[in-house]
Parts: sequence; C-alpha cells; structure tokens
Amino acid sequence: MTSVDSTIRLIRSTGTGTGATCAPELADGPWQLDALPTPSYGPGASMGDVIPTGTPRQGQLPAEYRTADEAELDHRIRAAKATLGDRVVILGHFYQRDEVIEHADFVGDSFQLANAAKARTDAEAIVFCGVHFMAETADILTSSEQSVILPNLAAGCSMADMADIDSVSECWEQLEALYGTEPDADGRMPVIPVTYMNSSAALKAFCGERGGIVCTSSNASVVLDWAFQRGQRVLFFPDQHLGRNTAKAMGVPLERMPLWNPRKPLGGNAADTLHDAQVILWHGFCSVHKRFTVQQIEQARAEYPGVRVIVHPECPMPVVDAADESGSTDYIKKAVAAATEPSTFAIGTEINMVSRLAAEYPQHTIFCLDPVICPCSTMYRIHPGYLAWVLEELVAGRTPNQITVPETVAASARVALERMLAAKPA
Ligand code: SF4
Repeated sequence: MTSVDSTIRLIRSTGTGTGATCAPELADGPWQLDALPTPSYGPGASMGDVIPTGTPRQGQLPAEYRTADEAELDHRIRAAKATLGDRVVILGHFYQRDEVIEHADFVGDSFQLANAAKARTDAEAIVFCGVHFMAETADILTSSEQSVILPNLAAGCSMADMADIDSVSECWEQLEALYGTEPDADGRMPVIPVTYMNSSAALKAFCGERGGIVCTSSNASVVLDWAFQRGQRVLFFPDQHLGRNTAKAMGVPLERMPLWNPRKPLGGNAADTLHDAQVILWHGFCSVHKRFTVQQIEQARAEYPGVRVIVHPECPMPVVDAADESGSTDYIKKAVAAATEPSTFAIGTEINMVSRLAAEYPQHTIFCLDPVICPCSTMYRIHPGYLAWVLEELVAGRTPNQITVPETVAASARVALERMLAAKPA
C-alpha cells in the first residue's frame, strides 16, 4: 500500500503525481518548522488557523534523526522498542501517518488510547503519537509513576486551541452575571459546561469544578442528555459543529443554539437570545473536517450511484445532513468492518485513516470525500524521526518531552471525565 506521505512526496517530486495536495511542503521534514522564529501549525489542514502565543515549541531534533532515511529510522525504532520491551508502550491515533502507526502497540481514537494507556500499568513510559490534549488526558488517567511522552511538543490541535481557559472563564463570568447562579424550581442550574475531549486539561478541570462534564464524538448525545437533566442550558466548547449536529439530532431548534464569539461582549449575542438558549456553542472548529462540503457529497453520488457517505460529526451541519450517516472514527471503522457485501464508501474524515481503511478492506471501494490530500497539520508533526529520538532517549535513561498535568488540575479534570464514564443513555 502507498502511504499518504509517499503520495505527497510523489506529488512534490513529479509536480503532478497521482493527485493533489493542499501543501507540497508536507513532503519536507516537520523539523524545519521547529526552527522557525514564530510558531505555526505548519502545512496541512490547519495552516490558515491563528496559533496562540505561548504555544509549546519543539526544540531542534538532533541532526542524525533529521538526516536518516526511512529505512534507518524504521530500524532504529524497532531496535529501541525491542530494548525497552514492556517498559514502553507506543500509542498511535487513527490520524497518524502510516510510518508511525506501524510501530504502535495500540491504534485508536483519543479516548480509546487514553484507556489503553491506563490499562498498561506495567509500562513506565507511554509514547503518545497523537496531539497534546490526548497526551494530557493519558497523563490524567495514568499513575504518577508513569510518564507520558509526546514525540513532538509542537503537535497541538488547532481546534483545542480555539478555546483557552481565560476566554472560557470570561464567558462564564458573563453568563453568571446574566443568569445568576441559583438553580430553578426543578433544581437545574442555569448553565452546565460541557467540553469536548479535544480540549486542554485546564478546560476539563474547569468543567469538573462547575458541575460539568467531558464528551467524545461517540457519546455526545448521552452527555448532553446528562447535562440537560442538571441544567437549563449548556455551554459547549470548543467544537461548534459537534455541539450543533448532536443537539439538532436531539431536537434542539437551531435558533436556540447561539454561537459564542469570545472576542465580542456576550459572545456577540443579545441578552434575550442567551436567555432562550438551550445550547451555547463556542466558536471553534476542526480545520480537517471543515474541508468537507455538500458539493463533494453530490459529486460522489453522481460518480458512484449507491455510494454510502459517512462523515465525522465535526463536519459542518449541511455536510452531516447531506451524508447518509455520521459518527466518530470508531463508528466509521465499525461501519466499514460490518459491511458484508462489496460496497462503495465515501468517508469524511482525516485522510490517513481513510487511506488505511481502503488498504485494510480491498473488497470495498473506499475513498476520502475531499479529493485534495490535506492531512491534519498537527498530527503530521509526529514524524518517525521524533519517534526514534524519544525511544533512543528512553534507552539512554532520559525522559524527553514529558507531558505533566499538575495534580490540582488533574484532580478536577478527572471528576469531569468520571462523570462522562458514569453517564448512561436515558
Ligand atoms: S483532526 Fe482536527 S480536532 Fe483532530 S487533532 Fe487535527 S485539528 Fe485537532
């Protein structure tokens, strides 16, 4: 199978290749970005997003890893992994490049991987090939003796960065001033904060401290239901699309889902609108899933009559509405696995996952809805060079790039995560 990275390199070297990419610079080593004077998300889907100041920076990767070819890095990773044995576990998110995934002990979505980390109590080090908030969640859920390592500290998440603790706290103060802080006659609080898993540990802790909860894309409706039982309305961050798609499917009218723009007083809303609100949606989005359009779906249907279109709920509402189904990465994977007859699937999620599904299920025709190859900028920052480096550092007795959530934050974040685990369908 040809990996997404190989295809991008081919496009870059031939000028045409077998397709188009949104950024030919994806073919370069991501370490070139570490050397830039100002941080950036880098080429890929998030390249147009504004990166916050104070974003973690990755120091320069030693030259031996920058200059090693694919085969040498592969060999060094395998050798270091063999030396470390059960002392280390490598986790790989579905959206990671194939050249990293082939070394992973577990592959899954952020929550599956956090649980995999939790289950490996014997591992001293958890090397998390994903993005920053995922490594934080793994640190929260594992013991203090275990270290969680993010191979490239610049692997953040542009969506998670769209809601920071200061802006959310400021929003909360305005909402408290508007609604008060007392429950209604049924004991429901004026507003319950709900954060998507794709958020900083500080925001998960914020929810834990204010009667709120975390959700994933698999359980968002169960979690919203939990929140509606306890609150008159919900403040949902950072992903407006997951919030809107989920609440709409639960029957919440669009006019009762105002958008909160953190740069405007009252989020840019009239007080009356906020009083009527059932779900206040934070102005955040995923630039990978924002690329999918209704037009792409129409084109897929025209070219492949009978195609089954499945998109992720981080896609904009018109796209979810036009698709046949929407669901988390786990849902998409299971839907393809469950198809008994050769079928055609058009999938609206990150290209690395779609390409692996296509290779894994050759009896089906599986393609990404977006014809332009545009992987997640930050997932892409994890290159085998960084993986080889962190593993060899561990072999040498050092612990590089450790992600540590302070215990005070972790304790409150755990409360919000545990509420999620305890939430059951109504
Ligand atoms: S795919 Fe979107 S939500 Fe996931 S890490 Fe990339 S930017 Fe963040």
